[in-house]
This record gives sequence, structure tokens and C-alpha cells, in this order.
Amino acid sequence: MTSLTGKIALVTGASQGIGRACALALATQGATVALAARNIEKLDAVAAEITAAGGTAKTYALDVSSEDSIKSAAKQVLADLGAVHILVNNAGITRDGLALRMKLADFDDVLRTNLTGAFLLTQAVISSMMKARWGRVINITSVVGETGAAGQANYAASKAGLIGLTKSLAREFASRSITVNAIAPGFIQTAMTDELTDAQKTAILAQIPLARYGSDADIAASVAFLASDAAGYITGHTLDVNGGMYMG
Ligand code: NAP
Repeated sequence: MTSLTGKIALVTGASQGIGRACALALATQGATVALAARNIEKLDAVAAEITAAGGTAKTYALDVSSEDSIKSAAKQVLADLGAVHILVNNAGITRDGLALRMKLADFDDVLRTNLTGAFLLTQAVISSMMKARWGRVINITSVVGETGAAGQANYAASKAGLIGLTKSLAREFASRSITVNAIAPGFIQTAMTDELTDAQKTAILAQIPLARYGSDADIAASVAFLASDAAGYITGHTLDVNGGMYMG
């Protein structure tokens, strides 16, 4: 028996990077994990990894920028697995550019994927947590939601919005023993940050007191903690996992 045995977790953006690491960590703790993203082949590969390690996982095609996709994926997960006790809203995108020239489509796409998607998916599965009178919603925000970042007005707004969403939902669902928290990663080495230039990466490293980039496992460990009973008295919190880059 491990701490999450009997719990069902849904992780968005589980096909790679931080989401994949979170899914593996939750499965290691005994949770049955629903892996969701757009790329089903990649999800199947993650599910195979979990199964090979003795865990249980199932894959779901989900586009968090589409309300219809969210509704149908949530319905399918609930039909297959019976409940969602732990929701990790991790799927996210960037469309960087200076605000002066930013296209409305690039602003809207980032908000719809990173913020509206998290809201709608939470709305679609929270009643099963209410029924269980136990639940965990964990939203993956970002250090730039706290600090802002030149060239990322859309992304920073979406991530700051997630922090406000987290606090509001924490207040609404606390009476049902559902905690709602956010994790704010700093610079984590994934496909998302691989897009940055070497000069940008070096400049960021200089701002990290722990003098290393973060790993997806650093974030997954915090997700596993917030999902556990040990974190049952923590809600509405934003946990910085950033090597000291920003100390809120
Ligand atoms: P990543 O490697 O680019 O992975 C992003 C994940 O999101 C993929 O699994 C992708 O899967 C999924 N995704 C994107 N759009 C989606 C959509 N419309 N519907 C469903 N899934 C979608 O990024 P990452 O670095 O692991 O980032 C994960 C989260 O951490 C994001 O929210 C990001 O903002 C946040 N974060 C990352 C860092 C960092 O330094 N890496 C720092 C702070 C915060 P598909 O393409 O298969 O759909």
C-alpha cells in the first residue's frame, strides 16, 4: 500500500515533460492515472512506462482549448474509472512576443489553453470529488505568473489568472475537504524551455540561487506531496519550486 492507493488521478499534458513526470510520480504512489493530451501515441508510451513499473494508467485524447473536448474526455474518464480524486491541470503553451505586436489570436490561444481549460476541466470533474468528500486540484502555474516577463504578456496573464482561480476554488470547495493549490515552477528543462536561445538560458541561470535548472522530477515530487494526505491542511497556496529564482 502506498499513500494514493485507491485514488484516481487525471493529469493533463501528460504526453511529455512535467505532466509525464507527474503522472509517473502519482502512479508510483499507487494512484490509477488518466493520462490526457492531444497526442495519443505519446500518451500510450507514457502509459506503457507506468504499466511496466507496476502501475495502472489509461489514455484519453483531450484538447483543453476546446470545451467540447473537455466535456467528452471528462465524461469518458468518469465512465471508465468512476471518479477523479486528483486533478493536475498541467497542459500549457506559450506564444511569446512583445505586447505591442502581439496578435489577439496569440493572446486568446494562451488564455484559453492555460486558464480557461483548467477552469472548465475542474468544473467537469469536481462533482466526483464532492461526492467522495476528498479531492485535490493542483494547477501548474509559473514563476512568471508572479513576476511578469517581457515578451510573455499572454502567458504571464494566464499563469497569474491560475493563481486567482486556485484561491477562489480553494475557498469554494474547502467545506468538502477538497484542496486546491498551485505549483509555480521556475526554469524546468523540458521541450518548452528547449525553445529558448543559449543566451536566454544563461541569463536565467544567473538568476537561480541554487545554480541549476529544475527537472520535471522536482515538480512531480511537489505534486505528489500536495496530492497526499500529508498536505491535507494546505489549500489556496502557490508553492514555488524555482531554485530560489523568486521568493514570494
Ligand atoms: P511541454 O513539454 O511543452 O508539454 C506541454 C504539455 O501540454 C504536452 O504534454 C502537450 O501535449 C500538452 N498540451 C499543450 N496544449 C494542449 C492542449 N490544447 N490540450 C491538451 N494538452 C495540451 O511543457 P512543460 O515544460 O512540460 O510544461 C508543462 C506545464 O508547466 C505548462 O503548463 C507550463 O506552462 C508549465 N511550466 C513550465 C515551465 C518550464 O520551465 N518548463 C516553467 C513554469 C511552468 P500535446 O501536445 O500532446 O497535446
